[in-house]
Amino acid sequence: MTLVDLGVPSLAPTRPAPASGPLIDTFGRVATDLRVSLTDRCNLRCTYCMPAEGLDWLADDALLRHDELIRLLRIAVTRLGITSVRFTGGEPLVSRRLEDVVAATAALRPRPEITLTTNGIGLAKRAQKLVRAGLDRINVSLDTLDAARFARITRRDRLPDVLAGLRAAKAAGLSPVKVNAVLDPVTGLDDAVALLRFCLEHGYQLRIIEQMPLDAGHEWERNRTISADEVLDTLRQHFELAPDTAPRGSAPAELWQVTDKSGVAGKVGVIASVSHAFCSACDRTRLTADGQVRNCLFAREETDLRRLIRSGADDDALEAAWRAAMWAKAAGHGINDPGFVQPDRPMSAIGG
Ligand code: SAM
Ligand code: SF4
Repeated sequence: MTLVDLGVPSLAPTRPAPASGPLIDTFGRVATDLRVSLTDRCNLRCTYCMPAEGLDWLADDALLRHDELIRLLRIAVTRLGITSVRFTGGEPLVSRRLEDVVAATAALRPRPEITLTTNGIGLAKRAQKLVRAGLDRINVSLDTLDAARFARITRRDRLPDVLAGLRAAKAAGLSPVKVNAVLDPVTGLDDAVALLRFCLEHGYQLRIIEQMPLDAGHEWERNRTISADEVLDTLRQHFELAPDTAPRGSAPAELWQVTDKSGVAGKVGVIASVSHAFCSACDRTRLTADGQVRNCLFAREETDLRRLIRSGADDDALEAAWRAAMWAKAAGHGINDPGFVQPDRPMSAIGG
């Protein structure tokens, strides 16, 4: 049990962050999972993430250079105890250096687990190369199997590319291939049933994620989203669900063993980020494409490691800044608090 569970307030203002040991916050949570956004750019425009016209992209010189990124990854792994690195974005496959970054990460010791969250466009051509570079696991985002709905949600007609990407990920030996779905408020419950059938049939693992207030237009409304409980009620009408008995640890997904009517079995995860927040078990730290550490998706402050690097900071100073950033992590995301204020950056610019 952490201090968050006990309702003990943060002591951050009066105590400095520890200079060594795990990457810890004032509530005793230890961050071991690093999410790295490689770019804020994307070839889709999902309504819950990006505006139709895109965003003002980060300028090239605002992005971490390859050597700067690898230096920060080395500090994270060798000094801060990071054991798992997930590359995301924006769309990480838009970054041509992805294979090089994966290979450089795989060369770090102790070698972290390396995972990727992608919309799958272009994956068909790159899955093999990514596995050869050291990629261990993958999550491909797919909200519906209906081409017209896909085009409405993502504002692009690219469903076949995503399906080809999924097949290539499986053929390249990535296992389990996870499918991330954020459900549309109108068609989402039907999509969930179809997606789960499809995933069981192909051996993918579906994870349904509650939509969070991280859209660029700040238009999120709770009553226009589908809750985890609604998803489970619907799935139970079509499948046998039983709680998965494996320990959940800090994993955000509540996992269910699922069997369809013809006896095909698998697992499905439901991530209730809003309705049943799991902040007290959070083990994440985040690095944006422009070198800002965020201690939470919903943080309203960032720590500028890019500026520090470019002003000549040594590894000790970068480590200390990262530790201080995490030390200041709030107890929870606060979405359900009356005074909640959405972060300025949308999901695509933070790195989901
Ligand atoms: N472009 C890649 C992709 O879509 O997988 C990686 C970046 S995307 C921001 C990472 C994940 O965040 C995706 O699974 C996406 O569905 C999810 N996501 C984006 N906006 C979200 C929101 N407002 N609420 C919940 N999940 C969101
Ligand atoms: Fe792009 Fe991923 Fe955001 Fe969709 S969710 S717009 S694919 S970054």
